[in-house]
Amino acid sequence: MYILLMGPPGAGKGTQAERLIRDFQLPHISTGDMFRAAVKAGTAMGKEAKKYMDAGGLVPDEVTIGVVREGLAKPECSKDFMLDGFPRTLEQAIALDKIMADMGKKLDVVLNISVPDSELVGRVIGRRICKECGATYHTRFNAPKTEGKCDKCGGVLYQRDDDKEATVKNRLEAYHAQTEPLFDYYKKAGIYKEVDGLQDMDKVYGDVKNALGKA
Ligand code: ADP
Ligand code: AMP
Repeated sequence: MYILLMGPPGAGKGTQAERLIRDFQLPHISTGDMFRAAVKAGTAMGKEAKKYMDAGGLVPDEVTIGVVREGLAKPECSKDFMLDGFPRTLEQAIALDKIMADMGKKLDVVLNISVPDSELVGRVIGRRICKECGATYHTRFNAPKTEGKCDKCGGVLYQRDDDKEATVKNRLEAYHAQTEPLFDYYKKAGIYKEVDGLQDMDKVYGDVKNALGKA
C-alpha cells in the first residue's frame, strides 16, 4: 500500500507513523526527518534547508522533490511506503504523481489527521524527541517515565529548534496557505480520507487503521 499521512504540524503524523511501523513494518519517508538528518550531518543541502526550517517556512520544491525521488528509489520502498510531511505544495503533489507513475505506482490513500490550530501550539511546544531512536514524547500528553529520558532506549530527549512558539505560527501559516489546498487535489482523485486527531492517541490510531483497512 502507498499511503500519505497529512495534517498540520503537531497533528500526530509521526506518532501514528511510529505505531504503523511497529505493527505493519511500513517503510516511513518523512521529509522533516530527512532534512533534520542532513542538518545534523552538516551537508550542503542540510545547511540550505536549515535556513527555511528555522524560519518556519518550506524548503524549496526542487530540493524537496529531489530528496523524495532518491528516497522512493530505495529497494525497501518497492512494495509499500508511508509518506509523512510530503507533499506540502501543489507542485510537490504533481511531481510525486509523476515519480510514482514512472515507477508504475500510484497513491492508495491520503489520510488527513485533522486538528484545529488552537490545539497545535501546545502540542508542538511540548514535543520532545529521543536523540538516539527518534521516539516522540510530549511533556504533558505522553510524558516519559523519567523526565528527559527515552522509555524505549534510555536516550536523551531534546526539543526541536523549530518547535518554539514564534516559529509554530509561521509553520501553521505555511500549512494553511500552501498545503491545505492539496485536500481538493486528492478529493478529486477520490483517495482523500480524514480522521479526528483531537481524540487521544489510541483512539486516533484505531481510526487510522480503519481508514487504511488495517483494523
Ligand atoms: P506531527 O508529526 O504531525 O508534527 P507528532 O506526532 O510529532 O506530530 O505530535 C506532536 C506532539 O503532540 C508530540 O509531542 C506528540 O506526543 C503529541 N501528540 C500526538 N498525538 C496526540 C494526541 N492525539 N493527543 C495529544 N497529544 C498528541
Ligand atoms: P516536519 O518534521 O514535517 O514538521 O518538517 C520540519 C520542517 O522541514 C518544515 O517546517 C519545513 O521547513 C521542512 N519540510 C519538511 N517537509 C517539507 C516539504 N515537503 N516541503 C518543504 N519543506 C519541508
